Amino acid sequence: MTTAIHVRGLTKRYGEVHAVGGLDLDIRTGEVFAILGPNGAGKSTTVEILEGYRKRDAGEVSVLGVDPGQATSAWRARVGIVLQTANDAAELTVRETVRHFARYYPNSKDPDEVIATVGLSEKAGARIRQLSGGQRRRVDVALGIVGRPELVFLDEPTTGFDPEARRQFWDLIRSLAAEGTTIVLTTHYLDEAEALADRVAVIAKGRIVAEGTPHTLGGRATASARVTWADGYAETDTPTALVRTLAEKYDGEIPGLQIVRPSLEDIYLDLIGDAE
Ligand code: ADP
Repeated sequence: MTTAIHVRGLTKRYGEVHAVGGLDLDIRTGEVFAILGPNGAGKSTTVEILEGYRKRDAGEVSVLGVDPGQATSAWRARVGIVLQTANDAAELTVRETVRHFARYYPNSKDPDEVIATVGLSEKAGARIRQLSGGQRRRVDVALGIVGRPELVFLDEPTTGFDPEARRQFWDLIRSLAAEGTTIVLTTHYLDEAEALADRVAVIAKGRIVAEGTPHTLGGRATASARVTWADGYAETDTPTALVRTLAEKYDGEIPGLQIVRPSLEDIYLDLIGDAE
């Protein structure tokens, strides 16, 4: 198991504002890692430091074995950054835009293959300005991956997507992950984190307040369950035992049985509430 990103004691201030206050983070190679947190929590500052776009005040940071504060072009070529859509290329076609970006990289992928990967083959000859919001976002991803990066940063990739476009985009991210690409995702959508991420970290006030898989975060897997059935409900730490008792009582199927643990959103809101 190798480490793609290693952070210890990361600190960043803007004047009086402590944007990031001693943050530790380890992201493994090949992992899909989601960073969650309310507005102003320090997500963008952290991610931009990892991308080499901002200077830190203190702390150790290693991204693909390199300090992003000392980034070289060779390192940049290994890191894909999916930015919010650049509209300045609106008059170029999809194919022209992807080809243009491919030239910046020493070992780029075939532009037409990348266009196919992001599901835009039919739009390859269309101008960027003629695309829908979701299609433009796919162009952004194409530009982020055409250099064959080992690590991709995605900043709120599906904001403004309709549900179907989001599902398709998730499939695209899964196929990137299946190729072994490490993916760091910031998102406001908890269902997105749950669908895509191997692990998630919740940042509040410049610190990580919880970290784990979407199923274990904040004690989710061991939180008490709410069991409901046709004639009643109970909160219990031992739902299996309760279901066994109910099954005996009903002599078979329990009418209307439901067992619910807290959702990722419930856990997230608790964590954020505690941090405030
Ligand atoms: P998030 O991405 O989680 O919304 P940010 O990293 O953008 O959080 O911001 C963290 C804190 O730092 C906020 O209080 C924000 O107002 C402040 N901040 C971010 N960028 C700057 C900047 N360039 N100058 C001054 N303050 C900033």
